[in-house]
Amino acid sequence: MTDLTFAHTEAERLPAKDREAILDNPGFGDHFTDHMVSIAWTRDAGWHDAQVMPYGPIPMDPASSVLHYGQEIFEGLKAYRRADGSIVTFRPEENASRLNDSAARLALPELPVELFVEAVKRLVAVDAAWVPSGADQSLYVRPFMIADESFLGVRAAQRARFLVIASPSGPYFTGGIKPVSIWLSQDFSRAGHGGTGAAKCGGNYAASLLPQNLAAENGCQQVLFTDANSPDTIDELGGMNLFLVRDDKTLVTPALNGNILPGITRKSLIQLAKDRGYAVEERAVTVTEWREGVANGSITEAFACGTAAVITPIGQLKSPDFTIDFGDRAPGELTLSLREELTGIQYGTHEDRHGWLTEIPAVGAAV
Ligand SMILES: *Cc1c(COP(=O)(O)O)cnc(C)c1O
Repeated sequence: MTDLTFAHTEAERLPAKDREAILDNPGFGDHFTDHMVSIAWTRDAGWHDAQVMPYGPIPMDPASSVLHYGQEIFEGLKAYRRADGSIVTFRPEENASRLNDSAARLALPELPVELFVEAVKRLVAVDAAWVPSGADQSLYVRPFMIADESFLGVRAAQRARFLVIASPSGPYFTGGIKPVSIWLSQDFSRAGHGGTGAAKCGGNYAASLLPQNLAAENGCQQVLFTDANSPDTIDELGGMNLFLVRDDKTLVTPALNGNILPGITRKSLIQLAKDRGYAVEERAVTVTEWREGVANGSITEAFACGTAAVITPIGQLKSPDFTIDFGDRAPGELTLSLREELTGIQYGTHEDRHGWLTEIPAVGAAV
């Protein structure tokens, strides 16, 4: 346990009517709550100076190491408002331990799991009025850590900062649960053996933006990345893990081979599928297998999953040479039903039988 105490500086809150107008139609990642959390770290003093403070710009030296060498990691989780008004988050300690795995890879300091969860809870509690109550709405919480030492030189920084900000959000993809088209990236990879593919770091996303643009030029919403050395072997999308569904009650998903991000949604869906008696194969999965399986009818559904977009049915995989198309079979039945169950647990309409939810205490909620 950490004995850090949080200082609190109350923000000038956005007037309720302006906040309500935002919550009516929040979009995704466009608006931020009144407060943020900041915790400082130095190699000598460790974690210190924990604060809940007004949301706003952070002072930063132009030589700050994160700006030059990209030493940054992040997390993403959501707070959900249930019908009785209470607020919960989903498996925050999983995000905390994944942040520490990312920290180890990026030579950033580890943060005690309890401190991570405490920081998230405090921010959501103080800005509870920002947790929307509409269908498919939530408060998206973004913890992140940056190296913040002023020097030009390539070594791990001896100063860092952990911050948490939060953004009220509606669905990640607009237009309901529509199947998306994804573009097979053949010229660009997001990860290679020994690289940072399993770490949630900003640099991975920077490298995914060019292929993402190519996907958009080809009428696709997302990119499918394959193994750098074996272009037929599937890794994941730019920010979501991938599942194929077979007609023999089997789910197939790429194994955590060090190149892909260990998604918490992925892990939760594997559990829910097993609970239903499905077999789940975590192993190497190829585009050829997908193509042949759809052609002969043994692969019936494909979906992508992640916290932001939950479960997104895949309608098409496109490449310059071929298109794999589920036609009017997408979204598939299991895709929709797993989505319903997972969101049902999060919003409190289904039993939380695995103890995945953490309740946010109702303090500071009144405005
Ligand atoms: C965050 C992320 C995911 C999804 O992880 P969840 O914990 O399910 O949100 C998948 N792939 C990448 C590259 C990611 O950054």
